[in-house]
Amino acid sequence: MPELRENLATKRWVAIATERAKRSDDFNKGKELPAPRPAYDAKCPFCEGNETPDQTEEFSIRDPGTRPGEKGWKIRAIPNKYPVLVPARKGASIEVKRHKAGIYLHMEGIGKHEVIVENPAHNKTIATMTLDEVATVIKAYHERYLALDRDPAYKQVLIFRNQGAGAGASQLHPHSQIIATAIIAQHMRYALIEAQRYFDELGKCVFCDMIKYELAEKERLVMQNDKFVAFVPYAALLPYETWILPLKHSTSFANLLPEDTGSLAQILRDILAKLYYGLNNPDYNYCIKSVPHYSACEPYYHWHIQILPRLTTPAGFEIGSGMAVNVALPEESAKFLREFKVGTP
Ligand SMILES: [Zn+2]
Ligand SMILES: [Zn+2]
Repeated sequence: MPELRENLATKRWVAIATERAKRSDDFNKGKELPAPRPAYDAKCPFCEGNETPDQTEEFSIRDPGTRPGEKGWKIRAIPNKYPVLVPARKGASIEVKRHKAGIYLHMEGIGKHEVIVENPAHNKTIATMTLDEVATVIKAYHERYLALDRDPAYKQVLIFRNQGAGAGASQLHPHSQIIATAIIAQHMRYALIEAQRYFDELGKCVFCDMIKYELAEKERLVMQNDKFVAFVPYAALLPYETWILPLKHSTSFANLLPEDTGSLAQILRDILAKLYYGLNNPDYNYCIKSVPHYSACEPYYHWHIQILPRLTTPAGFEIGSGMAVNVALPEESAKFLREFKVGTP
């Protein structure tokens, strides 16, 4: 019997289509790990050695004596060449005005869109990086998050990663993106409202309750370390959707402590390595969900990383209803990920 499940935090309903449930072998079928690629591609704009000399670097970790626009870096954050949103002109008001176009509302596309080039090498991905390299990626995320989050021009900062063409990536080179916006997107707004409603009713954080429950139940648990836990949500939207949350309540990604960077790198790398080797490099998106700066002192939200493998394609029902159809049982997705062992590089 198929069933509908509700995500306690987002209140989103998901159809778990057990009748057409697939197992890991079905998702794996006909797929292979990518053939080895060279570490340098002359045509890639992100490869070390292909820097544009006058390119701004918002953040970088560099060898001593090297300058922005030169080689000799470990990681760099640069403006996106094709930005979704652009910063306001210097000296302009930070208040972005809404305008009417007939009955419709519009505003200038003010924001900041950056690319975090995660590694000088063309042929790596988070799943195949060393823990030190992934920790460097987390450090860059945090530095850029802090800088954009405290800029009063922006209300929301979203860090995300698209892996593979099916997840929207246009470059093979390992990279993430960050977009700061002058509005709170509807998706985030709903999540904040639901978390606040739960807090108002029960006086506690819904995510903390989910962590406690999943740690006790164990069947959807994927892994945990000293600071973080990863589980497949009860109402997972897609096969192998996984959430990574700090064990200790924390509202904003801004609060990540430097000493916890290694633990976050470890759990993120290990989950992505399980996907990479266990399901032969599926396309995926992940994003860091965190509160707007002005809500950072509120008690109800709990920042987390949502990983969404792209093994199925949403069709008419999902588009029409907004209700996801998951063809894998969350408990089986979790069991597969929990039990799949990856050799540690
Ligand atoms: Zn490259
Ligand atoms: Zn919490």
